[in-house]
Amino acid sequence: MSPKTDFAALAPPGVRGLQPYLPGKPMAELEREYGISDAVKLASNENPLGPPELSLRAMRAGLSGVARYPDGAAFELKRGLSAHLAVVPEQITVGNGSNEILSLIAETFLSPGDEAIFSEFAFVVYGLAVQATGATPRIAPASSRTGSQPLGHSLEAMGALVSERTRLVFIANPNNPTGTWLAPADLRAFIDGLPPHVLAVVDEAYLEYMPPADLPATLSWLGACPNLIVCRTFSKMYGLAGLRVGYAVSHPGLAELLNRVRQPFNVNELGQRAALAALDAHDHVRRSRQLNEEGMAQLRAGLGDFGWSVPPSAGNFVLADTGGSAAPWYEGLLKAGVIVRPVGNYGLPTHLRITVGLPEHNNRLLRALQELRKAGVGR
Ligand SMILES: *Cc1c(COP(=O)(O)O)cnc(C)c1O
Repeated sequence: MSPKTDFAALAPPGVRGLQPYLPGKPMAELEREYGISDAVKLASNENPLGPPELSLRAMRAGLSGVARYPDGAAFELKRGLSAHLAVVPEQITVGNGSNEILSLIAETFLSPGDEAIFSEFAFVVYGLAVQATGATPRIAPASSRTGSQPLGHSLEAMGALVSERTRLVFIANPNNPTGTWLAPADLRAFIDGLPPHVLAVVDEAYLEYMPPADLPATLSWLGACPNLIVCRTFSKMYGLAGLRVGYAVSHPGLAELLNRVRQPFNVNELGQRAALAALDAHDHVRRSRQLNEEGMAQLRAGLGDFGWSVPPSAGNFVLADTGGSAAPWYEGLLKAGVIVRPVGNYGLPTHLRITVGLPEHNNRLLRALQELRKAGVGR
């Protein structure tokens, strides 16, 4: 059945140029395709401890409420966040994951002819969000492969792209997939140096994993930096990726604009309840952080012994350079029931991004790699 219409021609140029986002392979799909029953997923930076018990309880208590629309204003969640973060509710915008927030920011502030800046090897969603609006992405060269933050954001290179047309600068701190991060003073100086027609979007999806000494107090900067939007999520440390809840904190004037564009019921009822409850899951956060530190050390040591270069990461994942094409390693690991993330779509065809898992998952990955090498992969 071939349609009479060229559907792509109906879409605006920004949409025509889009490449769909490639998610990590779901475990159920791998198990179906390869007849495996015990797959391990280290591909999407999810919390291997799962959701907090408090969130599970809050969802169970709210199950019978799902016949009703959720609170479109997310009153309780915003009130909880406001107390947790010491900001006023009017500064908060809730999103269906922070991905939605990123798109919302692009939709709200970009039109064709405008420019948005981000770094080479930055989180791929920035490019998608910008391109869909028809605005022009300006991609800054990354910092060098051999520096202290290999392939990370170069604030200098990003600053050099600022023009009269710039509306947004996206900064991932730490960045996915590189795991690189910025010194707080450098980030602050960069934001202070932006002209008033530019908004800085700082994506802190992995904030809770950051080394405490490098934790930027971005929310306390908002008074002095009204053009700053900070994005956060319940998907990573809080273990609620499947529910899709994220948020932005900004000047109330920016939040008010984002809320005009936002879908009225964008965050579902159970997600709002689970996210609110997660704010009290201090023990879960503490255990998750501890597990990540240990697993990070285990993975970096194991992969280093294996001969792969693995720079430090401030997230819950590492970016490993396999030294050759990463594809045979990725495929071999899939057959061994271990899903990692190829990052060729980021322009990194020799790298794999690997999420820190439970100790036994990390071991399984390291053993599978040894087996693959014995079988001749990488030669
Ligand atoms: C995972 C991730 C997000 C958050 O995604 P959600 O939509 O909140 O699940 C945002 N930014 C980066 C850099 C990420 O890696």
